[in-house]
Amino acid sequence: MQERDRRTIAAAHGVASDDRYGTVTPPLYLSSTFAFSDYATHRGYEYSRTANPSRDLLGETIARLEGAADAIVTASGMAAVNLVLSLARPGDLIVAPHDCYGGTYRLLATRQAEGHFDVVFVDQSDPAALAAALARKPVLVLIETPSNPLMRVVDIAAIATQAKAAGAKVAVDNTFLSPALQRPIALGADFAIHSTTKYLNGHSDIVGGAVACAAATDAERLGFWANITGVTGSPFDAYLTLRGIRTLFARMERQEANAAAVAAFLESHPAVSAVHYPGLSSHPGHALAKRQQDGFGAMLSFDLAGGVPAVQSFVAAVRIFTLAESLGGVESLVAHPATMTHAGMGAEARRAAGIGDGLLRLSVGLEGEGDLIDDLRQALASIDRD
Ligand code: PLP
Repeated sequence: MQERDRRTIAAAHGVASDDRYGTVTPPLYLSSTFAFSDYATHRGYEYSRTANPSRDLLGETIARLEGAADAIVTASGMAAVNLVLSLARPGDLIVAPHDCYGGTYRLLATRQAEGHFDVVFVDQSDPAALAAALARKPVLVLIETPSNPLMRVVDIAAIATQAKAAGAKVAVDNTFLSPALQRPIALGADFAIHSTTKYLNGHSDIVGGAVACAAATDAERLGFWANITGVTGSPFDAYLTLRGIRTLFARMERQEANAAAVAAFLESHPAVSAVHYPGLSSHPGHALAKRQQDGFGAMLSFDLAGGVPAVQSFVAAVRIFTLAESLGGVESLVAHPATMTHAGMGAEARRAAGIGDGLLRLSVGLEGEGDLIDDLRQALASIDRD
């Protein structure tokens, strides 16, 4: 059978598949354990840490959306990142972006300090820096594009080709765009990692993660690790995440339209010194994003010319945007990376990555476009009054 349109997979995979009662919505199986039918014989499920029907359906749906052989569903996005790191042994090298999510940076740096493996953080848009790192024969190259929070875009297909030639596996953190707007496996990646906490669930009411694996053998290996270390996701979270995925494409489309309007407004405002949104033609990664992605997404960041005092006035004045970490929900959020999402990175690494103290990150939601812009306008006006 020809693979269905991914919008159909998101909206309907597993719908009306219950052969017991004919439920249209796939049932939620909360049971931690399953009855064996006989001595040493179970009916496909035995214990929910190992496998659970609700979690399996979510994994299957994510795998199909990502064009993967299978997906492992984990208890958080960090558990998903960490699961991929289980491929590395002491002495192995991992290449990671110098401007990755602060939690990923902290995990890699801490595990390196504990002697679990070596890490080199590089600017992957710098061909010489990337080539020098790949010459050291890493086992894994981690990519995050667009990057968090600066929205830098790197060429997945080009990096994957070079990384594979160097003998490395390639993992792309696809959290910021979701499979609705970017499919790393089709571009040559071995893994697409998600914090499902974000766009896949989309409603800011679960914490979860997933690793979609291009090869069934990798999925088996990571599935084994997820089970023995106990990091698989809860069935209830899987149920909610699948419910969120039903509207993924519609949400992404609408939120992107709002983000484009917000970016254009901010770019024209005198209190704003730079706007980082790949949808703007002024963005250095605009052409690449247009080619590599199916949309520009709904995340953006911007620098306030007035630095920390301006940030303080702005975040105190916003009414519709909520000052909070996380992203990808239906509601709009504003975060100050230096003191929130990227605090764990340390000041020096932030400076090296270009994350200034006047930088604010927006996750643009589904509210009315006019209300969002009015809110930003009045919050920016509050800076001038201080
Ligand atoms: N990857 C990216 C790009 C993120 O933004 C985040 C969280 O903000 C994570 C991974 C970690 O996900 P979680 O918070 O679900 O553990």
